[in-house]
Amino acid sequence: MSRDDFTKSTIDILAKRVGYLCSNPNCKKPTIGAHEQKDKSTSIGIAAHITAASPGGPRYDDTLTIEQRKNIDNGIWLCSNCATLIDKDKEKYKIDLIKDWKIKAEIDSKLRLIGELKNQDTNNPYLEVDLIYKSGMRLNNGYSFKNPSTIENGIRIFDVNHFPIIHWRLIWKFNLTIHNNSLSPAYNVQIEELGDIKFSQMDNLPKINNIPQFEKIDLRANYETQLESDYREADRIYKTKIPEDFEKLQLKLSYQDNNRETHFTIVEFKNDDIQNYKQ
Ligand SMILES: [Zn+2]
Repeated sequence: MSRDDFTKSTIDILAKRVGYLCSNPNCKKPTIGAHEQKDKSTSIGIAAHITAASPGGPRYDDTLTIEQRKNIDNGIWLCSNCATLIDKDKEKYKIDLIKDWKIKAEIDSKLRLIGELKNQDTNNPYLEVDLIYKSGMRLNNGYSFKNPSTIENGIRIFDVNHFPIIHWRLIWKFNLTIHNNSLSPAYNVQIEELGDIKFSQMDNLPKINNIPQFEKIDLRANYETQLESDYREADRIYKTKIPEDFEKLQLKLSYQDNNRETHFTIVEFKNDDIQNYKQ
C-alpha cells in the first residue's frame, strides 16, 4: 500500500509557519528544543495529514489526487500527542475542525511575529459579556394619588386628563451572552453582581460548566423597576435598550484556565454601552 507522504521541504515549511508550536489551540506546546547533546536539537513535532496518506487511514478522502494528498494544504503541524489524539477520535476531530486549527495557528504565528500577540495572551482565556435586548414593557399598576381627585360617597374619583400619573412596572428582557473570545477554554465560570443594582432574575450557570474557545453561553436575564409618571416618561425609559439604572450595575466574571488559575472580567454599562475589562 502506498503512502502519499509529504516532502522534506513541505514538512519544514509546515513547522516554520506555526513557529514550531503545536497547532491544537488547546495545546500549543513547543515542538522543538535543546537536546542533551549540545550539537543536537529535540523535535516532538509531526506534519500530520488532515486527510490520511493512505486508504483506510483516518479521514481518508479518495477524491483527492496523489498530488493533493501530498500538498501542503493537506498538512498540519502538531505535537506527537495531538497527532495521535486526532487519529484516535475521528468523530471529534473532523476535517473542518483540524483545518480551523491550522488557520488559527498560522494567524497567531503572524501576529506573534509582529509583536501583536504575546505568548501569555494565547494561553489565557478571556470572557466577555454581551447584553442583547429582547423586549420591554410597561404594566399599569393603577393611578397615583398625585392625580387630582375628589371623594364622592366614600369613593375616590380621579380627575383623569390626557396624561394621568400611573404606577408603572417597567420590565426589560435580555439575553446575557458570555463569549469566550480567546483560544483557550474557560472552566468553572461564575458570575457575580457587585453594583447597587441587580438583575431581577437571571438564569443560573450550570454548577459544572466550561466555555470552549470561541464558544458562548446564553442566560436569560430580566430587570424590573417601578415608576410613578405619565406614560410619556414611562415610554421614554422602558424603550431604552440598556436601562439608565445599569450605570449602577457591575458584573464580575471569574473563570479558570487549564492550570486552574483564576481570571476575571469586570463588566460595566456606561452611556448605553457595555464595557468589559480584563482584571
Ligand atoms: Zn499538541
